[in-house]
Amino acid sequence: MHGHNEEARKVRRLPSVDKVLRTPIGLELAQKYGHTATVAAIRKTLAEVRECANSDVSPDAAARDTEKALVKRYAPRLKPVFNLTGTVLHTNLGRALIAEEAIAAATDAMRNAVALEFDVEEGRRGERDDLVRDLICELTGAEDATVVNNNAAAVLLVLNTFAEGRGAIVSRGELIEIGGAFRMPEIMTRAGARLVEVGTTNRTHKRDYANAVDEETGLIMKVHTSNYRIEGFTREVPARDLVDLAHSSGIPLVDDLGSGTLIDLARFGLPHEPTVAEAVAAGADIVTFSGDKLLGGPQAGFIVGRKALIDRINRNPLKRALRVDKIRLAAIEATLRLYCNPDKLAEKLPTCRHLARKKDEIEACARRLVSQVADSLGPDVTVDIADCASQVGSGAVPVETLPSAGLALKPAGGGGALDRLAVKLRGLPVPVIGRIADNALLLDLRCLDDEAAFLHNFSTLNNVPASIPEDGGS
Ligand SMILES: *Cc1c(COP(=O)(O)O)cnc(C)c1O
Repeated sequence: MHGHNEEARKVRRLPSVDKVLRTPIGLELAQKYGHTATVAAIRKTLAEVRECANSDVSPDAAARDTEKALVKRYAPRLKPVFNLTGTVLHTNLGRALIAEEAIAAATDAMRNAVALEFDVEEGRRGERDDLVRDLICELTGAEDATVVNNNAAAVLLVLNTFAEGRGAIVSRGELIEIGGAFRMPEIMTRAGARLVEVGTTNRTHKRDYANAVDEETGLIMKVHTSNYRIEGFTREVPARDLVDLAHSSGIPLVDDLGSGTLIDLARFGLPHEPTVAEAVAAGADIVTFSGDKLLGGPQAGFIVGRKALIDRINRNPLKRALRVDKIRLAAIEATLRLYCNPDKLAEKLPTCRHLARKKDEIEACARRLVSQVADSLGPDVTVDIADCASQVGSGAVPVETLPSAGLALKPAGGGGALDRLAVKLRGLPVPVIGRIADNALLLDLRCLDDEAAFLHNFSTLNNVPASIPEDGGS
């Protein structure tokens, strides 16, 4: 009995939902988040107070707690981070950053009705591919082109169009897994194609392809082994050597370039990657590549090649399920336009800018930042300027690295200190994502554009509680 009275007494000390709602903060919250959400949040706050031993709370204090909860609940989940991983095209961090020109175009398209499938001159229905076809063809030398959701979709659509119920011939050395659930053999099955593996893991010869072709073959496919390289006693058959075989058999030769680049990366001091134009010139009938890898645009999959084949792809009902919307088409168009002036690319396209950044320049950035970062982190962390190696990422140019520089953060104390430091930096208002290497948390500064914002972000560390839960990083 006594216990029950105690409960009742506690409940009486809690303000009513209505009282909290009528505080100045409560009224403001109801305006901002709506009556229903605010009342629900107040109820939750009061319930939490009731759980506590000391259940005394003023209406104002309850309103403030409710505000904290609402702010947290309605904070955007998809928020910017500093990508200091050293991987320029980081799939988990959204790959390519979009050029300002493309952002402006996409924003315009979002805000307005646009002539997406409408021929303004003729006043009749048009095709969305018309918006970018000429540009893509000009940049790649292909006869025709279409755009879909991503390169995985491009591959799926191509396989389904030409090899549904038929054989798709691929070298065993090229049966790639890109990551996640994208494995070439599985995509083939889903596309309705029968995988015909030829050759061995390390060596495939032209005769292997020739022996595999029969009247059931739908296509021959070359896949760029984007995220690994087989070295040593190896042989692969370049696409150009398969052109005759494909054509004499009356089947298309498809080249999935993966990243695909529109320009020779050698101009940025990177190793040469096959360009789309080279793949087209080598004689592939269809070439597929991504929009948000080396190309530096939004997520998209490009399919370029012979007109008669692109026509068939466009007639496939799956195309409709895989197409891109006006926002991305606007960004794609603007991104491709930047390629018409390659000399300006390193300035205009963030991916090119980051890839082209010289080590000296990155090191100078590290020197500008080191002391303030050290101050923000306090005496328990030593901060040094360090050499490091960046990588392109997203499977493009998998082996070679780019000489870079950054800050190596070493916390005092062993054990989980490094992980706890990583957790602490991920807990900043703009999470800082580095990588752990050589017993340090390494912040590769290749992709850092806004140094002032970075330092401001770090300066808030002084307000972050020093003790992070021991198990935070595991
Ligand atoms: C990345 C890649 C893909 C998938 O492209 P997304 O744009 O990520 O869908 C397909 N094939 C190859 C060879 C790749 O490198």
